[in-house]
Amino acid sequence: MQIDTTIVGAGVIGLAVAARLSERRQPLFVVERNASFGQETSSRNSEVIHAGIYYPAGSLKARLCVRGREALYQRLEEARIPHRRCGKLLVATEAAEADQLDSIRQRAADNGVDDLERLSGAGVRALEPQVRAVEALLSPSTGILDSHRLMRHLLSRARRKGCELVYRTKVERIRPRDGGGFDVLVRYPDGAQDCFFSRHVVNCAGLAADQVAASAGIDIDAHGYRLHLWKGAYFNCQAPSGYLKRLVYPVPPPHTVGLGIHATIDLIGRIRFGPDATYLPDGVLDYAVNSDDRDRFFHAAARYLPSLQADWLQPEMAGIRPKLQQPGDAVRDFVISEESGKGLPGLVNCIGIESPGLTSCLAIAEYVADLLE
Ligand SMILES: Cc1cc2nc3c(=O)[nH]c(=O)nc-3n(C[C@H](O)[C@H](O)[C@H](O)COP(=O)(O)OP(=O)(O)OC[C@H]3O[C@@H](n4cnc5c(N)ncnc54)[C@H](O)[C@@H]3O)c2cc1C
Repeated sequence: MQIDTTIVGAGVIGLAVAARLSERRQPLFVVERNASFGQETSSRNSEVIHAGIYYPAGSLKARLCVRGREALYQRLEEARIPHRRCGKLLVATEAAEADQLDSIRQRAADNGVDDLERLSGAGVRALEPQVRAVEALLSPSTGILDSHRLMRHLLSRARRKGCELVYRTKVERIRPRDGGGFDVLVRYPDGAQDCFFSRHVVNCAGLAADQVAASAGIDIDAHGYRLHLWKGAYFNCQAPSGYLKRLVYPVPPPHTVGLGIHATIDLIGRIRFGPDATYLPDGVLDYAVNSDDRDRFFHAAARYLPSLQADWLQPEMAGIRPKLQQPGDAVRDFVISEESGKGLPGLVNCIGIESPGLTSCLAIAEYVADLLE
């Protein structure tokens, strides 16, 4: 069988790429090792539509987040997928943090996010009576969505155009052929193997994207493609109904890897705190949430929510970030690369697609389609 394009992985990125490429490229296959789509990082995140505030100017994260956010809002409207532009408060709880709000606002403006509003402590209380802050930034374009409904929409859009999804099938190797294209070796759960030819391959394998790239013969250490896994745990919060209407984030603590333990709400108003950031040195996919961490989450959140009660917090779930940096390294950007330069024309790698990958998914799909053109 000869396929035009094979996409490895049916997370939100693979599905967005499939929906986009299905408009032009057939036959198109998505190969997924799990029994269904979106069973890994795409269903273990905060479901926040990020504005694009924190990322270095000019980075793919900044550009694709800002472009992807508006494309996403438009798509969510058109397809009637549940979402809300609820807004987010970025709160300084002491004067030293308030000084950082200016530089955060400047960085956001450099990224084209120019709708941030500075609020006094009283302004914050008027919007969110439970939140204590000396000052804050309000981001009106931050929102929340139902990510599972988004993935279902992308999947059915791709399928309508003839894209085939193959579950319970692991891509083991991508072997370039002389004269172009790739032999894709797959393994089924019963251990049987198969091989097919695909002219192009898009690697959207999330936590295993570095291994898939390595299977094509790329030296992932020499090219800076090796992934480092960072767990992000969440605690849910049984606060009284209407306790918060917006997302509340602290000013990111210095040298932190995440954004600091923040409060998110979902579409029915449930609150949760997290994610924190724990390096998983041995690369094991550890999704356990330790109830002993409750005090740490409580104290972090109580800085901006003084009425919070520790016994409202319960361990919920964890997601794992596929980062390109290990402890002590500088922040890395997404890698989205067409690999002609490495002698692999027609292979596009998407590696290190951590946050804001969900927000950026439609823009990433567009970017991948342009690289393949
Ligand atoms: C704790 C946390 C919070 C986050 N919060 C947000 C947020 O609020 N907003 C936001 O924009 N982003 C957020 N993100 C980032 C976002 O969740 C990810 O960027 C996005 O889900 C990545 O999607 P993906 O498709 O690349 O990866 P995945 O969802 O992991 O999908 C990859 C797929 O590839 C499959 N696969 C892997 N190897 C193979 C193989 N060899 N063969 C076949 N299939 C394979 C896997 O089974 C998996 O289904 C968060 C991430 C984390 C961890």
